[in-house]
Amino acid sequence: MKKLDVLGLPIVDHCNLNCKGCYHFCTKGQQESFVPYDVFFKDVKRFKELVDHVDWIKLYGGEPLLHPRLDDFVTATRYFYPYAEICLMTNGILVPTLSAKSVDVLKKADVKIDITVYPVMEKNIDNVKKFLEENGLRSNISYVHKFGKRFNKNGDSDIEASYKSCDMKICHYLQYGEFVMCPLPIFIRRYNELFNTDYNFDNDILNIYSDGITYEDIIEFSGRAHDSCRYCGDTVEFDWEIGKNNPPSADWEI
Ligand code: SF4
Ligand code: SF4
Repeated sequence: MKKLDVLGLPIVDHCNLNCKGCYHFCTKGQQESFVPYDVFFKDVKRFKELVDHVDWIKLYGGEPLLHPRLDDFVTATRYFYPYAEICLMTNGILVPTLSAKSVDVLKKADVKIDITVYPVMEKNIDNVKKFLEENGLRSNISYVHKFGKRFNKNGDSDIEASYKSCDMKICHYLQYGEFVMCPLPIFIRRYNELFNTDYNFDNDILNIYSDGITYEDIIEFSGRAHDSCRYCGDTVEFDWEIGKNNPPSADWEI
């Protein structure tokens, strides 16, 4: 069987939180950006032609619960990947606002609600847990107090060493027809917008609509180091906090 371990499908690029050093570069005042449903549907349909089964699919963002068509994204993902473990990755803030219809869709699709609780949400987590329990939703809850940064703006890290020590190398990601082994080659564009830089990691992006692309290409591409790994160094940890209005690049750089 043509199978992949993990696939992230981001459906919203902005967030209702702005954590300092957010790896998705969700900063305060960021413009709203929703992935259009037809684009998502076409991409997942095309991906299914290349990869029969994915063990673990992460629907995420930004904050995915902000998407007004969340139910449709969930249903389409389950349609194409009937045996995947589908997780909705959220900061939990909007979980208690899920409509009865959305709860029904999530249950029918057997989606797990995977909540990362940041310190700012801890006082409300009991409400969230109660909602999940009362509605019979499967869930996983993790608490995060530390963030890490590892962007080496000089690009002089050892590629293989960075890749070997990286937790993100399994975070394969597909959005707007672009498939990456980890989100950095795509997220760097947001970094460029924020800090007026011109990094270009497009060589580390595979277009799933390219002529002749095969399952073997997907596996090869997602299972090795890429040139962008030069831009990751040893992780520097810091306490989680809300980001500033105009965050400095130091929130990401080591
Ligand atoms: S909740 Fe997640 S996506 Fe939102 S700002 Fe924090 S780290 Fe980024
Ligand atoms: S570019 Fe390489 S080292 Fe950096 S996060 Fe991605 S896989 Fe990890």
